[in-house]
Amino acid sequence: ISTERMRADFLANASHELRTPLASLTLLIETLSGPARDDPAGQARFLKMMQLQAERMRRLIDDLLSLSRIELDEHIPPSDRADLAGVAREVADTMGEMLREKGVSIDLRLPAHPVQVVGERFQLAQVAQNLIDNAVKYSKPGQSVVVEVAAGGDREDMIAQAGRRWEGASRVALLTPAAAANRSYASIRVEDSGQGIDQRFLPRLGERFFRVERELGDERGGTGLGLAIVKHIINRHRGGFLVESQAGRGSAFAAYVELAGEG
Ligand code: ADP
Repeated sequence: ISTERMRADFLANASHELRTPLASLTLLIETLSGPARDDPAGQARFLKMMQLQAERMRRLIDDLLSLSRIELDEHIPPSDRADLAGVAREVADTMGEMLREKGVSIDLRLPAHPVQVVGERFQLAQVAQNLIDNAVKYSKPGQSVVVEVAAGGDREDMIAQAGRRWEGASRVALLTPAAAANRSYASIRVEDSGQGIDQRFLPRLGERFFRVERELGDERGGTGLGLAIVKHIINRHRGGFLVESQAGRGSAFAAYVELAGEG
């Protein structure tokens, strides 16, 4: 499909996504100024619902802006260095409140030494944040999310070590870098013990606005932009992105980017 066509589709989808919470807000305003005018208990409830819808719109706009910022320089690979292990630790450390709320813990498995990769620190933190957010969101209280950073290996090693760990799981490489000789990678793998993702949906993860819940007729939930953001960031980094999942076992997402050479 042409770029113009994709842009037009994207604008139509984005508008549609924003219109849904807006329609709810309009309806709630009408209810508040009409039927619920003399019903204080109802008013409190409707205001709460309005707050949630406004929140949803804000998240959508934040994610859309994030995505457009990432796409703007997607063709310019990063030249900075960042410590992938440090990034993972920092992101995990900021999640205390969400973890307490959900009763989920994070099991950090990091090498003792820094893992210097070619990458932009802020963007790699977005990758870690989105993957960990999802893993926590789809975990049940008492469960633990494993965040692992590992260094060393070529593209095939990454696919084998970070994306093919569960016997009997379904797996898809959502993004694979072009083959390059002598290139070594480091990976971040985020694993949960949640419900897992039906195999038929795996290839669509990372598609903008794609949400399994919606496919199953449940309109709640996120924006469907988190994994698209991850995919675009990793694409800019000329890295790879993998998922494996199994019902009853959980889901694991892994991203890998190039290790920085010596010096
Ligand atoms: P969202 O904002 O909806 O979480 P994402 O792009 O991050 O958007 O994820 C897209 C969809 O992929 C989610 O709506 C969910 O259906 C599915 N998904 C992502 N991560 C997981 C996970 N760890 N376990 C189960 N399903 C997941």
